[in-house]
Amino acid sequence: MHAELLAVRDQVHARNPGEVEFHQAVDEVFESLGPVIERHPEYVEAAVLERLCEPERQIIFRVPWTDDSGRVQINRGFRVEYNSALGPYKGGLRFHPSVYLGIVKFLGFEQIFKNALTGMPIGGGKGGSDFDPRGRSKAEVMRFCQSFMTELYRHLGEHTDVPAGDIGVGGREIGYLFGQYKRITNRYESGVLTGKGLSWGGSLVRPEATGYGTVLFANEMAKTRGRSLEERRVVVSGSGNVAIYAMAKAQQLGANVVACSDSDGFVVDEGGIDVDLVRQIKEVERGRLKEYAVRRGAGVSYVEGASVWDVNAEVALPCATQNEVGEAAATRLVASGVTVVAEGANMPCTPEAIAVFQSAGVLFAPGKAANAGGVATSALEMQQNASRDSWTFEYTEQRLTEIMVGIHDRCAQTAEEYGAPSNYVLGANISGFVKVAEAMLAQGLV
Ligand code: GLU
Repeated sequence: MHAELLAVRDQVHARNPGEVEFHQAVDEVFESLGPVIERHPEYVEAAVLERLCEPERQIIFRVPWTDDSGRVQINRGFRVEYNSALGPYKGGLRFHPSVYLGIVKFLGFEQIFKNALTGMPIGGGKGGSDFDPRGRSKAEVMRFCQSFMTELYRHLGEHTDVPAGDIGVGGREIGYLFGQYKRITNRYESGVLTGKGLSWGGSLVRPEATGYGTVLFANEMAKTRGRSLEERRVVVSGSGNVAIYAMAKAQQLGANVVACSDSDGFVVDEGGIDVDLVRQIKEVERGRLKEYAVRRGAGVSYVEGASVWDVNAEVALPCATQNEVGEAAATRLVASGVTVVAEGANMPCTPEAIAVFQSAGVLFAPGKAANAGGVATSALEMQQNASRDSWTFEYTEQRLTEIMVGIHDRCAQTAEEYGAPSNYVLGANISGFVKVAEAMLAQGLV
């Protein structure tokens, strides 16, 4: 790593002890930036790197609520308003027991560059709670969301900070959060949250956008080597919102999607995953993937407690969570013939795994580029809210496609320009960074 970057990196690690995921996200971006700061000494002079790593504002709050048995529960809520150089803070909320400040900061840091790459006017932020929605009743989830918003509302606004969903936060939770925001503020401020229901300000294609976008990106990468995803064997990890719509789009493009997973195990369905059934089990019934094999019957296997990356793949789409693909899994995937990997989740591949893919010549797309379709479509939702309009599915999907192709081309061109063709990690980090850095320079020392 470049000496200037190394010094800042060491300082970031020392000032944020124990936040290992955050360190990992910073290191990964800094690894790419050497040639940029050589070309732009003004970034160093204006301390752009130090400023980028220090969130503009960090909010940590108590979330008290009562469970169905009347017992008081206390969770911790977070919102990290990271960078507003390009627009209001924008990024999801994650409800998962693993959430702590280091996770929110890694996600928020990634979000800055991801949002910049979309070309939309949105800054970076992220939030969430260590609340575990698993096994909680609808009424408990509602009370939790209401308590969470009762503190958070004062920091939000359509021009200030606009949350959305992430792991553990989908349409149902956004509904409860929006209802409470509206009640407290007495404002029907549609643009304060995205991922809303269709009848109350949501956008068509937003539920599909992250997964669709990831596959569109993977397809663009594959086309640079003369072959699209058609008839390719695809393995997806996860079975939540991102995984479901990644599988659906891959099938629309003619791929054969043979496996997906949840945190208990994975299913292999050589005839092609029945995506509607996965959606029914996971999103409608809120059940476990194990049920898929039971309902599909003979020919479908369910493997508990093992990694979906044991399944041979030509195209791998990690759509579950951070650090789910390590060096061993990457090595196995390369041996099984993988040629395209696109991250639908945020930072699912460890740095060691990425190194394995890159040295084997695999086309690898980092999450901040490949999964940017979700937040890009959130920005389209904000645009519709601002103009009190709603667009058709076809038009919105066309916009999403243009945005994903745009991100792909920008990353590819930047990688080329910096002498590292097909290095999408470098392309994404540099082009996202330069856009934010320029805006920060123009806006002075704030
Ligand atoms: N949580 C999603 C992400 O990681 C979407 C955020 C949004 O739509 O604001 O980008």
